Amino acid sequence: MTYLESVIDFIKLLGLEFKMNTSFIDYLLTYDKIINFSVPITKQDKIMIYQGWRVQHNSLLGYYKGGIRFVNNLDLDTVKALALEMTLKCALVDLPFGGAKGGVCVDPKSLSRDELESLSRKYASIIANDIGPFQDIPAPDINTNDLIMAWMKDEFAKTMKLGKKSAVPEHLIRASFTGKPLSQGGLRGREEATGYGGVVVLNKLVENLDFDKKNLSIAVQGYGNVGYWFSYFAYRNGYKIVAVSDSHGGIMKNPYGDSFNPQLLLKCKKEKGMLSGCYCIGSVCDLSYGKSISQEELISSPVDILVLAAVEGAINRDNVDRVRAKIVVELANGGISKEAQEKLTTKKIIVIPDILCNAGGVTASYVEWISNIQNYRPSKDEVFRILNEKLNKAFLKVSKLARKHKTSLRNAALLLSLQGLQTAFFKKFKLKAK
Ligand code: NAD
Repeated sequence: MTYLESVIDFIKLLGLEFKMNTSFIDYLLTYDKIINFSVPITKQDKIMIYQGWRVQHNSLLGYYKGGIRFVNNLDLDTVKALALEMTLKCALVDLPFGGAKGGVCVDPKSLSRDELESLSRKYASIIANDIGPFQDIPAPDINTNDLIMAWMKDEFAKTMKLGKKSAVPEHLIRASFTGKPLSQGGLRGREEATGYGGVVVLNKLVENLDFDKKNLSIAVQGYGNVGYWFSYFAYRNGYKIVAVSDSHGGIMKNPYGDSFNPQLLLKCKKEKGMLSGCYCIGSVCDLSYGKSISQEELISSPVDILVLAAVEGAINRDNVDRVRAKIVVELANGGISKEAQEKLTTKKIIVIPDILCNAGGVTASYVEWISNIQNYRPSKDEVFRILNEKLNKAFLKVSKLARKHKTSLRNAALLLSLQGLQTAFFKKFKLKAK
């Protein structure tokens, strides 16, 4: 079952179980607009054509919002699934946005800096007419970052002739993208927001379960933006990070010993280009300090908490039986396949679902967008205060609903989103039904 099929299946099943209006469910599974295009660039004197997409799923709650990723095996169905999940996520954390997503099927590591800039600018100019601060506001995602957002914002402004002499003020042009550099209207705390939000939600769950976080060990798959910042804040909160991995493999230490220091790990990853081998950090190699592990060994680590911060389908039917953690934090969108989710539920492993635990990213993006529009710059403390408020509120509502219906956090999160969207559907289209 593909990621898209499993999201659709999940919505349909939950809709049936909780007797949601079937016309609303049918409506939710349609797409407002799918933009399918080629992005040609010159690469080492040859012309290369890459496939690109921008998918605008639904604007029941507000303007479209969603990231842009550059990934070498990207396909339209994945972008559609991610856009649909954005709609659900924004509804869950009560943000006035609808869902969108975009991307290019490309391995960005195969491009030079100039080629990457050219690809990013062309992507933005192609979709320029369909995006904007009051239409669709893109953000970074896998393998895209603040610099790429700055190039895209600049190209969008050029394509739409929004230069210095136009009547549109600069702060409104800045509101056309989020996740920008600070110098271009970016938000303090945006970079940390998704990982930070994951820790906020995990803390709440741990508190509810009456666990002592000081004794909880964590394995983190993916050590990019989300995985690193999650590890950083988890470590500061007293959890022990004992295993981490990136696309090249991972490292692990004794789960009963002390924690890795996430900042030292990042420094080492930057120096070596990968985490594998980072057990040698700081001194001569000392194998008692840790060992190299494969991706699969990370998934089956004997830890209390497994954090997914890389790609979709990381826990799937082939490896789900090997998961030994008590809690899985699904920071990666679609990190767990549907078949795997069913097995985790049977094994009574608690999953904090993606739309809840990674909603810190879009919440911070909302703060960036609104503060650009208002030409105001909040402090990092203000941003973290808003993240705490929004995510704690969402967690409380989800856990209350889960208890009420004796169901999983995933089912409860989806149900809350669907209920909010259904109300908006009836209101927007002035519909009546029994
Ligand atoms: P990133 O590109 O910064 O980092 C991705 C990390 O995953 C890298 O360390 C990479 O080496 C690693 N990786 C890739 N394939 C892997 C594999 N097969 N096994 C192990 N590691 C692998 O991306 P990110 O922004 O950190 O996003 C990670 C996930 O979080 C994605 O699913 C993304 O959609 C989701 N997410 C991100 C944000 C955000 O604000 N960045 C918000 C919500 C959700």
